[in-house]
Amino acid sequence: MDMPLETQTQAPLVDAFGRTITYLRLSVTDRCDFRCVYCMSEHMTFLPKKDLLTLEELSRLCSAFMARGVRKIRLSGGEPLVRRGLLSFIEGLGAEVGSGLDEITLTTNGSQLGRFADDLYAAGVRRINVSLDTLDDAKFKDITRWGRLPQVLAGIDAALAAGLAVKINTVAVRGFNDTEIPSLIAWAHGREMDLTLIETMPMGDIEDDRFGQYLPLSDLRQTLEQHWTLTDLPDQTGGPARYVRAEQTGGRIGFITPLTHNFCESCNRIRVTCTGELYTCLGQPGSIDLRNPLRLSDDNALLHTAIDTAIADKPKGHDFRIQDGKMIGAMDRHMSVTGG
Ligand code: SAM
Ligand code: SF4
Repeated sequence: MDMPLETQTQAPLVDAFGRTITYLRLSVTDRCDFRCVYCMSEHMTFLPKKDLLTLEELSRLCSAFMARGVRKIRLSGGEPLVRRGLLSFIEGLGAEVGSGLDEITLTTNGSQLGRFADDLYAAGVRRINVSLDTLDDAKFKDITRWGRLPQVLAGIDAALAAGLAVKINTVAVRGFNDTEIPSLIAWAHGREMDLTLIETMPMGDIEDDRFGQYLPLSDLRQTLEQHWTLTDLPDQTGGPARYVRAEQTGGRIGFITPLTHNFCESCNRIRVTCTGELYTCLGQPGSIDLRNPLRLSDDNALLHTAIDTAIADKPKGHDFRIQDGKMIGAMDRHMSVTGG
């Protein structure tokens, strides 16, 4: 799919706190072939298809953001690779890498990588994140409810064989994978994959107790220090992850700690849902609709006005925190809506 090019270069996206937005995380579907316990309820209701942006609308949107200085786009979901026709959309974006874009990447549960890894590489994708919380078959079934571990491991193999750099994302869940995390890291580093640990965040109703799942990564770091010498690395991403190198493996470990460490000062990102809602903060409720401006006119003037309004109001930061044994600042939307 060809990208609709905007001829005129528009003003960059700078918010009221002087942060320049260069990174778009785009959810291309709310659907998923898994039902991870911290992400969705088992009987999740999905949106009617007509509410979703079409692939053409997604392309127009990306092109408009690129004209405003967005240099990196990450596709997410739901599970991005279950969206029909996504590959041709990725090919369109991939053709922009090196000119309009620095990078196109995606976050996936890995289930469809066996089918798509080679095509993703051919389309210009070079790095992907794969979410994986355990290497134990039975536990994998417990946490994803519907997932099959061998399929995901085969998908990761296919991605590595295709030449994609793979980073593993692992949500740290108390009482579930805390004791397994050192061996998960050793496994990832043994295959030249970095691994980033994520604290559970209070996103959406999920039937389970959030605080029971919460494991502060500061505690986990102490455990990891019993296995490896960890050297802090300078922040190169401008993102929420802080990285260390495990000296004995040479691999990197990332920590995303929304609850114990606030990373908002350097935030360069925005999120758009699969229905075209622009969220300028993962942890705040406000959003601006971009679907109507997209559908009302072929001209992007309305769209840019809506984007400007949202950026001017980008909040200073989120309010997730732990207080009196409870998670505060919870959002009523699921992570699968904004794509994590
Ligand atoms: N389906 C894809 C996947 O699982 O990688 C992409 C979407 S998923 C919503 C993106 C990331 O969000 C995954 O790494 C997932 O583990 C993480 N996630 C989902 N719900 C979360 C929560 N409540 N707290 C922290 N991370 C969460
Ligand atoms: Fe699906 Fe990803 Fe959510 Fe798991 S975390 S249910 S794979 S969207």
